[in-house]
Amino acid sequence: MTSRPPSYYHVFDALKQPGCPFCRLLTRDAHAFIDSLLYEYSMDRGVQQRFQAMRGLCNVHSWQMTTLHGRSSNVAVLQEVVIKALLGVLDDAPDLSDDSRAAGRGFLGGLGGSAKDRAGEQLAARLDAREPCACCQTLDEKEADYVEVFVGHCIPAADGANDPADEHAFTAAYRQSDGFCLPHMRQVLRRTTDRAQVRLIVAVQRAIWSGLNAELETFRLRSGAVGDARDSWRRAIANLTGEQAVFSADRNRS
Ligand SMILES: [Zn+2]
Ligand SMILES: [Zn+2]
Repeated sequence: MTSRPPSYYHVFDALKQPGCPFCRLLTRDAHAFIDSLLYEYSMDRGVQQRFQAMRGLCNVHSWQMTTLHGRSSNVAVLQEVVIKALLGVLDDAPDLSDDSRAAGRGFLGGLGGSAKDRAGEQLAARLDAREPCACCQTLDEKEADYVEVFVGHCIPAADGANDPADEHAFTAAYRQSDGFCLPHMRQVLRRTTDRAQVRLIVAVQRAIWSGLNAELETFRLRSGAVGDARDSWRRAIANLTGEQAVFSADRNRS
């Protein structure tokens, strides 16, 4: 029997929990990354240099740092490192005086009076992040691994047999799951090369979207609906966009 990677068991467990299994795992991964960054690495010189190059984490993951109790001084250390770097950029900016422009010196160039002043544009470029958010990068790697694990282990029962009881527990867990959010469904579909797997994904997702559709109709027609329909509008958002604050706005997730 071949040994399975730890991520196999993580995905398997997540399939048995509510919501998109990958969003659930990535939310946990982001939390673990940020906790480790703050607890173990905020004083690490190499990490601090990388933090400077990133200009801090992205918006989503920077704000997640603020939700960890007891880590505010570590957050302060890392933010201070970035602010110092930004001050350094301002200090190192070429002469911005009108005199320097008139003389055609410095980084404004000597293009004459009609030339557009590029000082702002050039300064903005110096303030740009030189590396993407380290948390987003880690999540990209984890996400790719989860998708591979799913595609590699979700093996539908052969056509004709059509008995889900014959399927491995991993595939059965997917059949019973809440399915994927739309971004993760697209990722899985792009990676699969097995038509039977595509059919299974379509069947699972069709059932989930049909149920959600009916609940949304119930909610709309009977305001104050009770039962499952009550939070259908929230679950629809989670299903179409992924769980809250999993994806950074500037993250490539196609
Ligand atoms: Zn998802
Ligand atoms: Zn990020």
